[in-house]
Amino acid sequence: MTDFHYSVDSDGVATITWDIQGKSMNVLSMEGLAELEAHIDTALSDEAVKGVIITSAKADFAGGMDLNVIARMKEMAGDQPEKGLFDGIMSMHRCLRKIERAGMDPKTLKGGKPVVAALPGTALGIGLEIPLACHRIIAAENPKAKIGLPEIMVGIFPGAGGTTRLARKLGAMGAAPFLLEGKLSDPKKAKSAGLIDEVVPADDLMTRAKEWVLGAKDADLVKPWDAKGYKMPGGAPYHPAGFMTFVGASAMINGKTQGVYPAAKALLSAVYEGAQVPFDTALKIEARWFVHVLMNPSSGAMIRSLFINKEALEKGANRPQVADEKVRKLGVLGAGMMGAGIAYVAANAGIDVVLIDAQQAAAEKGKGYAEGVLDKGIKRGKLSEAKKAEVLGRITPTTDYDALASCDLVIEAVFEDPKVKAEVTTKAETVLPDDAIFATNTSTLPISDLAKASARPGQFIGIHFFSPVDKMLLVEIIKGRETGDRAVAKALDFVRQIRKTPIVVNDARFFYANRCIIPYLNEGMRMVREGVAPALVENAAKLMGMPLGPLQLVDETSLDLGAKIAKATRVAMGDSYADGDVDEVVFWMVEQGRLGRKSAAGFYTYDDKGKRQGLWQGIADKFPKSDDQPDLITVQHRLMFAQALEAVRALEEGVLEDIREGDVGAILGWGFAPWSGGPFSWLDMLGPEFAVSVCDDLEARFGARFSAPELLRQMAKTGRGFYANRESAAA
Ligand code: NAD
Repeated sequence: MTDFHYSVDSDGVATITWDIQGKSMNVLSMEGLAELEAHIDTALSDEAVKGVIITSAKADFAGGMDLNVIARMKEMAGDQPEKGLFDGIMSMHRCLRKIERAGMDPKTLKGGKPVVAALPGTALGIGLEIPLACHRIIAAENPKAKIGLPEIMVGIFPGAGGTTRLARKLGAMGAAPFLLEGKLSDPKKAKSAGLIDEVVPADDLMTRAKEWVLGAKDADLVKPWDAKGYKMPGGAPYHPAGFMTFVGASAMINGKTQGVYPAAKALLSAVYEGAQVPFDTALKIEARWFVHVLMNPSSGAMIRSLFINKEALEKGANRPQVADEKVRKLGVLGAGMMGAGIAYVAANAGIDVVLIDAQQAAAEKGKGYAEGVLDKGIKRGKLSEAKKAEVLGRITPTTDYDALASCDLVIEAVFEDPKVKAEVTTKAETVLPDDAIFATNTSTLPISDLAKASARPGQFIGIHFFSPVDKMLLVEIIKGRETGDRAVAKALDFVRQIRKTPIVVNDARFFYANRCIIPYLNEGMRMVREGVAPALVENAAKLMGMPLGPLQLVDETSLDLGAKIAKATRVAMGDSYADGDVDEVVFWMVEQGRLGRKSAAGFYTYDDKGKRQGLWQGIADKFPKSDDQPDLITVQHRLMFAQALEAVRALEEGVLEDIREGDVGAILGWGFAPWSGGPFSWLDMLGPEFAVSVCDDLEARFGARFSAPELLRQMAKTGRGFYANRESAAA
């Protein structure tokens, strides 16, 4: 297999063209790197070659390193993984350094061959690190192209010299948004930020690259950091200005990540330490920190869940083998908060929508929601008036069910009341075509029960969105007892059209996501009732990488909703209901009128504008703080195991069929500590034996809800984790 082609023209300009067969986007593999290096060697040793253009035959330059390779680098690195990884990374540095030095005399800095990167489109990750080692980067005028180093988003950092080169090129401050936030820019913005050197019309790209190669002088090939007297822009760490930058950056990173994301810290260390030594030593330091990050199980788990498996689910990993079920026209019943959101995301994805409510004004109001979101986009310069008109033109607000006659999918988002839901199901099915699929967005009612109102339960399914619909990336698809394959395929194809991530689960109380979130919220409130300091509860959660502490999350979702769910669950579960302690807190808060953010009073206080302030001290009057506060780890274990064990039970009971969905769903659905890769990845990191020993301890101290599920106990006997079992089952 060849990933790169090599040719030399009559003027002595060699062109190395990246063009991986059978793929729409170039990604770098280890084999590809070796090929690139061999072509560079050929060009540098061939006297007839005056200079080199590195480009791509595709619309884009490259999407980055093959993430499968990164996720497996540690496993492939042999018995001494640190050494194997370090050697592998250093060989990458050697190749890129060869491009950068291009045969020049290291003393006189003369005699090198010019190497230019010509980027037709997107250049991400290693796709920008290679150009950064070239002597000039020219990009085609292509507003769709994205240029940047997004590695930090996958739990690693640019480890092929991109960190060291960009920090030296732009200074720590200038490089910070690109390195620490993974900011991506179009070519014009990338040029003004100093990321690349030139932007030319697409048709002129290769001509201009060649012209530059033929006109380049020795001095054009010397990177600032290889020239005498180089000083880091904005100052190195011991310069007064540099000192300020690094102190500020360190505080900012720790504030944002709470120290749970190893990559951000390692990146900053690589820049800080690298800035104080010569360039080649800095690359070695970068390599050491990169190994440090790759050795941390977090990076592999994040890549696996957030990229490889997320993408697999989006592409239909669990889609039944039936023909294309793309949605042509969608009916939405109920134009409230959820219905309006669903109508907007569908119209935005190019689908025609009939938006029905009981009153015309309510239906219009639902459409107005889409208008509001679109207006915000226009204000931020992301959208044109024409696009807004186009999207709004797709939404027809009405009270007339006959308008559903040409819909192939209907999603109901009316009140959470089985009677109302049954009524709209019948009304819709009377006019819908025979093969249409009917979906419910219920968050608590069993799908199989709601399906009883349907004349065709095989075409009845749950499509559960999260609020706010336009921001939340996950959609939970729920199969009722009688739901057929075509309904599942329809739901999956729809989720794909609106560019969200689906998980498919079976019907059981609270499905998957809510089933796991509720124990987290409950455990937080239970601790408050026991007299654990609310600040300890909240901070323990955040220090584990949960985006919101349980009490804040209760405030966001509202205490009256909590009370409503508690009452319904109590009725459904009868004597086995075990959350009486939690209800004491919930009902008391509701009695005080503290319903959460919506009433500007909850576990937190809020100012006049509704902005969250500190924790409400009044809670201590009812539930006084105990003198004996638990240690941090105990609080963290209670909060994390409350969620993770519920995920395991969902798997054990067959609600979840695939741990990949459990992990991806947990991160996207309720923000389960993303650094961990999800609850199953987290338990794998702990190891089943240790996890069971924690369960036993928690069960003895706090009750049966922490009892280790049988599945976990079995795994503790073999010492093999969820993913190891999954892989051996697949092999
Ligand atoms: P909402 O009260 O904001 O909206 C419900 C809408 O349905 C109202 O506009 C109402 O006028 C309309 N409606 C009621 N009866 C109707 C009928 N017979 N015909 C047509 N329209 C009718 O409620 P919501 O928060 O949007 O929730 C809707 C559904 O989505 C519920 O089943 C809820 O459980 C579920 N859900 C809500 C959330 C959330 O966070 N709010 C999240 C996931 C799922």
